[in-house]
Amino acid sequence: MSLRRIRAPAAVLVAVAALMAAVPAAAQEPPPEQPSPEQPAPVPVDPAPLPGEGAEPPVEESPDPNGPLPLVIIDPGHGGRDLGAQGRLPAGTPTGLSARRDRGGRALILEKDVNLDVAVRLDGYLRGRGYPTAMTRTTDRAGGDRPFRSEHADLVARVVAANRAARRHAGRRALFISVHSNSLRRSSRGTETFHFYSAGSEARALARAVQREVVFRLGIPDRGVKKAGFFVLRRTRMPAILVEGAFLSNPDEALLLAREDFRQSLAEGVGAGVERHAAARGAGPGSPPDDRPPRTEPLRIRYRVTAGVFRRRAAALRRAALARQKGFEAVVRRRRTPRNGRRPHYVVTGQFIFLQNAKRQRGQLRRAGLPGRVGSAAPPRRAAARRR
Ligand SMILES: [Zn+2]
Repeated sequence: MSLRRIRAPAAVLVAVAALMAAVPAAAQEPPPEQPSPEQPAPVPVDPAPLPGEGAEPPVEESPDPNGPLPLVIIDPGHGGRDLGAQGRLPAGTPTGLSARRDRGGRALILEKDVNLDVAVRLDGYLRGRGYPTAMTRTTDRAGGDRPFRSEHADLVARVVAANRAARRHAGRRALFISVHSNSLRRSSRGTETFHFYSAGSEARALARAVQREVVFRLGIPDRGVKKAGFFVLRRTRMPAILVEGAFLSNPDEALLLAREDFRQSLAEGVGAGVERHAAARGAGPGSPPDDRPPRTEPLRIRYRVTAGVFRRRAAALRRAALARQKGFEAVVRRRRTPRNGRRPHYVVTGQFIFLQNAKRQRGQLRRAGLPGRVGSAAPPRRAAARRR
């Protein structure tokens, strides 16, 4: 989701990224439902009626305890000329998506492609379980599978398509799920799900169910259920949520989103959330909700890249300053070595979940004339415990 987000200046974010990397992931993520600078800004309500919207009564939202499975309207965010967020990938990373490159020939992964792929997988999952579905786009185009003209026209087309689909299935409850991929800082991680500020209880419950199931499957940080004024949440006439699966702006999560099995798990998480929600409302064969806590364990940082180890702190600080001059984010960390128990000063330039990313930074350091090394990011206490 790159729509209507506040972005902090990139330089500031890059500067804090290295420091943030030293903190456990759970500690740096805001708890659910807390106001944070990463929340999207409220969008003023647009009172103008939408084309295609008449005076029809709103779709019935009250659940019928023995009713049929709800219609699920799936909205793959962005499309066509609206690329959405972008992530960078190491050259040659397989994605199972259209190959995308920037002007310099570097490999990209585009939000519009990820969203459509996840949406198609979600559609298959739900249809396979007997749910009627509708999609607001099925090709690399804007809402309603039309050419992209403007953001407003795109969003209106999505809302009109959703409200029409609900009218075609009159008598059946309908749910609206917008699928997006997130973008903020390089260090931002995790899954979050939005409902409209003044959403009814059903949208809130659906958001909680989907968030829980997705987080449980992906195992990336749980950023919680949040409120937002996104157009598609505001103007659709059925309980509506917007899922941000993972961050394309984070190199590790961009690599995860490039994986077909990860996108499948994301789709299945959303689908399982719908099933759980429907079952709780008396529709479908799904099991009733339990009180299983969501899996919030963050991805583990395994690799640490350093640009030198020094006995004297002053020397380490000089090396860190040099590394920063060359464009790296360097911090000095003291750490006991498992072998001889000394505590030298390490110049740390990055911490990574994937070895591929750690090696890439090592290469960048060496090309800049610095002695890049990849080491274990396991805390020294754990290393000491292993020796015993
Ligand atoms: Zn988006």
